[in-house]
Amino acid sequence: VLAAFGPPPASAAALPYQDPALPVAQRVTDLLARMTLDDKIGQMTQAERGVISPAQLTQYRVGSVLSGGGSGPAQNTPAAWADMVDNYQRGALATPLGIPMIYGIDAVHGNNNVAGSTIFPHNIGLGATRDPALAQRIGRATAEEVTGAGQDWTFAPCLCVARNDRWGRTYESFGEQPEIATAMTTVVDGLQGTALNGPASVLATAKHYLGDGGTTGGTDQGNTQLSEAELRAVHLPPFTAAVRRGVGSVMISFSSWNGAKLHGSKYLITDLLKGELGFTGFTVSDWAAIDQLDGQPGFTQAEVVTAVNAGLDMLMVPVDWQLFLGYLRAAVQAGQIPMARIDDANRRILTKKFELGLFEHPYADRTYASTIGSAAHRALAREAVRKSQVLLKNAGGVLPLAKSGGKLFVAGKSADDLGNQSGGWTLTWQGASGNTVPGTSILQGIRTAVGSNATVTYQRDGTGIDSSYRAAIAVVGETPYAEGEGDRPGSMSLDATDLATLSRLRASGVPVIVVLVSGRPLDVAAELPNWNALVAAWLPGSEGAGVADVLFGDYAPTGKLPVTWMQSAGQQPINDGDGKTPLFPYGFGLTYAGTPADTTAPSVPGAPVAAAVTATGLTLSWSAATDTGGSGLAGYDVYRDGTLIGSPTAASYAVTGLSPATRYEFSVAARDAAGNRSARSAALAVTTAAGDTSTGGSCRVSYSTNDWSTGFTGTVALTNTGTAA
Ligand code: BGC
Repeated sequence: VLAAFGPPPASAAALPYQDPALPVAQRVTDLLARMTLDDKIGQMTQAERGVISPAQLTQYRVGSVLSGGGSGPAQNTPAAWADMVDNYQRGALATPLGIPMIYGIDAVHGNNNVAGSTIFPHNIGLGATRDPALAQRIGRATAEEVTGAGQDWTFAPCLCVARNDRWGRTYESFGEQPEIATAMTTVVDGLQGTALNGPASVLATAKHYLGDGGTTGGTDQGNTQLSEAELRAVHLPPFTAAVRRGVGSVMISFSSWNGAKLHGSKYLITDLLKGELGFTGFTVSDWAAIDQLDGQPGFTQAEVVTAVNAGLDMLMVPVDWQLFLGYLRAAVQAGQIPMARIDDANRRILTKKFELGLFEHPYADRTYASTIGSAAHRALAREAVRKSQVLLKNAGGVLPLAKSGGKLFVAGKSADDLGNQSGGWTLTWQGASGNTVPGTSILQGIRTAVGSNATVTYQRDGTGIDSSYRAAIAVVGETPYAEGEGDRPGSMSLDATDLATLSRLRASGVPVIVVLVSGRPLDVAAELPNWNALVAAWLPGSEGAGVADVLFGDYAPTGKLPVTWMQSAGQQPINDGDGKTPLFPYGFGLTYAGTPADTTAPSVPGAPVAAAVTATGLTLSWSAATDTGGSGLAGYDVYRDGTLIGSPTAASYAVTGLSPATRYEFSVAARDAAGNRSARSAALAVTTAAGDTSTGGSCRVSYSTNDWSTGFTGTVALTNTGTAA
């Protein structure tokens, strides 16, 4: 009895899986050998907060809990969140083996579930920045705010490539071209930190695998009808990049590929993702997605069998988790799911739990609570807002506005509305209008910028404006929505409220500057002639001052369109390179300085890279790029496995120092004198043979292509100048 109060005996951590000094793989093997079938099926189960209790976590050995759509504790404070998560953790640790649970949330633009958190721009705005380093810093800040609320895992980043802007999740996309989402996978590095068990590391999720942004008609959870070559070329590259960065989990998409639900696709999940791409983390299903496998409501044992055998490791069965446990157990006992599959799923999940350090530090690290909504994070968000603004029209150089003199008039339903600025996935799944989160509205940003140097009058509906004002700023656009709720089968027009506000402003005769707060391009072509300036602000989040920074010239705009802006909604889907004439092309964006900036990227080299392979090196060559933007072609950037290795001016590059028996992937981008970069060329994979040495030997080459930009489908010509294997 006394011993129970003394220091733990030296043998307390005697079991190998409890010993942090042992390699993770060894700890997993040891733990797996001790687990019963109930322990194992529990690890594969994720239930919704509120639908499961901490005591049930103990009883049923359930390994994960989530707050779907942000559902949090009644009192939405960081401390209440951390207490809630810790309560679940106590339940998990009370199981015989004491395996910690992992808590997942949708921190998709900051830790948007927690009151007082910093709300960063939604991904579409980050795509406009074309700034992967910024995305990484935002990932890091988000990880700190997630850690501060006691959570371990975020269902982000969304790497969808949105090809039809009618889709209600367009704003969760970094843009219409795989190049942008691929570059922005730096957010994974930010979220996960340098090591998963490092300070404030959270597990990231690449979602939704695969082709969620390519559905016919832009229907959420719809059907992506594409050849395999197109699916790989357009939708796979960001996932390949995220896997290379070591993303811990991948969420499978609700959608279908050529009529077959992704959750049942052994080919895409097991063969492609885990096999070909070499993904070693774990897959998680989307919210109750297995219900959809047979097209009937609810799920059956057969659907559980299909999903798990396809390669699902953890099942998000938010409500019917007990039913799932029963079916999974029965399926294993009936031999419908091999034990090896169950063990593989467990090995993947447990590996991440060990790597995160959950066995050593299972409880919330409350020291990070002070980072939630901190001044430093808000400054970072403001920087992101500034850089995400895309100036689309600036007739007569009406922008930037002078900060002093005369009177400014501000109007529009989103001028003083942090909820509208933040969009969906803000405190609640769908988000809501109104000043729902702390921060700075665009109006407040404007008022602060001019201070007492000018008069700012605000009237939401635009009444009261007259010719005594020097400019009117109208902040209009979309109100919050999420997922299929945002699908727009009809028009993508400004609503009647906005149109009425705008016509009042126009009638006054003063210059009208429109700031569009929206998750995607809207139908503005008919109205555009009435506006002197148009700024696409996307869904900037809690720091509206970043919009004012651009309006008043504290920051000359650098944002570039991450999507093609349609002439009218009927043109959807419209994407770069499809031959349609847009209102504003992909990559378009004006700035203030001097002559209009060259914003046109050179075109991607017209043919995929070819490689002439020697024993320890190879020479890459490609056809010359063209540049129509005016500044002229400056050269090329060559990448090996995503890392820049050289910047030649000619269309070839010699790579040296390759290791034997290693697979490399090379790609090339073109760059013009203004610094615009094209998309990268087709990826060329090369495998050197085992006998490859610095003095010679044989060389084996394999290759694959995915030239998304030009839709290349031909064969790569390879010249092996070494000895063929
Ligand atoms: C969404 C996912 C999200 C999940 C959990 C689903 O409806 O598709 O993106 O991570 O809910 O909230």
